[in-house]
Amino acid sequence: MVGENYDARRLGKAGKGWSNWSGLQRCQPRDFVKVSGVGELAEVVGKAGSEGRQVTTVGSGHSFTPTALSDDLLLDITRIAGVISVDRDSGLVEVGAGTILADLNRELDRLGLAMPNLGDIDRQTIAGAISTGTHGTGRALPNISAQIERMKVMGADGTVRDLEPGSDELLAARVSIGSLGVITSVTLRTVPAFNLHRVDEPMDLDEALADFDRITQENEHFEFFVFPYTRTALTLKRNRTDRPLAPRSKADRFLGDVVIENGLGDLALRATGKLRSAIPKMARFSTGFMSQSEQVDRSHRVFANYRTIRFNEMEYALPAEAGPETLDRVLAMIEGENFPLPMPIECRISAGDDALISQAHERPTVYIAVHQHRTMEFEPYFREIERIFREVDGRPHWGKLHFREAADLAPSFSRWDDFQRVRDRLDPNRTFSNAYVRRVLGE
Ligand SMILES: Cc1cc2nc3c(=O)[nH]c(=O)nc-3n(C[C@H](O)[C@H](O)[C@H](O)COP(=O)(O)OP(=O)(O)OC[C@H]3O[C@@H](n4cnc5c(N)ncnc54)[C@H](O)[C@@H]3O)c2cc1C
Repeated sequence: MVGENYDARRLGKAGKGWSNWSGLQRCQPRDFVKVSGVGELAEVVGKAGSEGRQVTTVGSGHSFTPTALSDDLLLDITRIAGVISVDRDSGLVEVGAGTILADLNRELDRLGLAMPNLGDIDRQTIAGAISTGTHGTGRALPNISAQIERMKVMGADGTVRDLEPGSDELLAARVSIGSLGVITSVTLRTVPAFNLHRVDEPMDLDEALADFDRITQENEHFEFFVFPYTRTALTLKRNRTDRPLAPRSKADRFLGDVVIENGLGDLALRATGKLRSAIPKMARFSTGFMSQSEQVDRSHRVFANYRTIRFNEMEYALPAEAGPETLDRVLAMIEGENFPLPMPIECRISAGDDALISQAHERPTVYIAVHQHRTMEFEPYFREIERIFREVDGRPHWGKLHFREAADLAPSFSRWDDFQRVRDRLDPNRTFSNAYVRRVLGE
């Protein structure tokens, strides 16, 4: 199962260059090493640490931010993958940090186990996913990092620390954007495997916003997509079920995942980019395709979607009570300013968690994500939208585009200083601080 679904992208001379999934972030590290196991990793990291080099670990390159960029030593640990141990009674499963979620899900299913919640794709590594606070949707369900019982992290001297449950080290490392060392394994709290019933249906946006509280209480996993310039939401409800399996047909998947969630298609989006005035019309046309569809399948197959169109994304974590109103303000601003944003906005919810710099730290959270086609300009629009998110104390997703820096981020996190104390202990020489880490966490 090693790295079967790995799809980070490379470019440049002698396979040394690297780019992220959307193609926006690129780098030419001095060395790009794909280690074969923890033994080789210890040698490489120990040597780099003793030489005062800067070390960055990349997962599968699905972050939109420059979080995995390096001009020095970039490490690929996707060969440190697979299930290491299983305790069926407690559901505790230790896996290699480079395990791709799709591989993890299949392996857990074989063991009769599952992750209680997941995001909307399954191509990330488990270490990469938790490091930026990757989350799914569900009012009672926190992000993926909250499933971690313990974790092993390699420091700049090449030795591995076992971070214990309840320790500040573990609370810091769960969401730490690569800044504390190289995660080599995580022990996850899994649940017995389960099936989900998914219902997709259009709903009047005003109704979805007004009833958001009730709908998110009545459904274990609820989210919706809405195209700017329209007032129809495509709602996705997923609940546990004992019904017999009824997987979606390929046509349904295409309509739901590709047409609605990705936009009308790559070509159409590129054309729209050139023809700004076509966007509202096209958005209304796309919502016309929305219809009801249903599916019953294994949980991990229901969580994961196709993302065929490459885009750039910003996502903010807002105090849950501010979510619906803020989304309405964002849509009104996009429309008022006639911003060319042809892709849908996504709205999700999660429980708070205790990781020290999690976006949902100690706060029930509504997430709002805006997308822009990879060939189209995003910065001026995302900056304006970020201004609205900041007014309600929004915190950026560490793996999605934003324009914040350490000084203005710190006041938003009550345990920021505790995180920095752990950072001083685990990485006193800042071996694991690349430019992004320095920007958002400070020197
Ligand atoms: C199409 C698409 C859909 C997405 N859907 C969701 C979603 O539903 N919910 C959500 O919250 N996010 C989502 N994301 C964002 C994505 O989950 C995060 O950016 C995640 O961090 C990517 O994981 P990765 O394995 O690609 O890690 P990378 O992007 O390669 O790295 C992310 C961070 O992890 C660090 N890292 C990686 N491995 C290690 C290690 N072994 N030790 C220490 N640090 C490490 C890196 O240094 C970097 O800081 C999506 C992204 C895309 C492109």
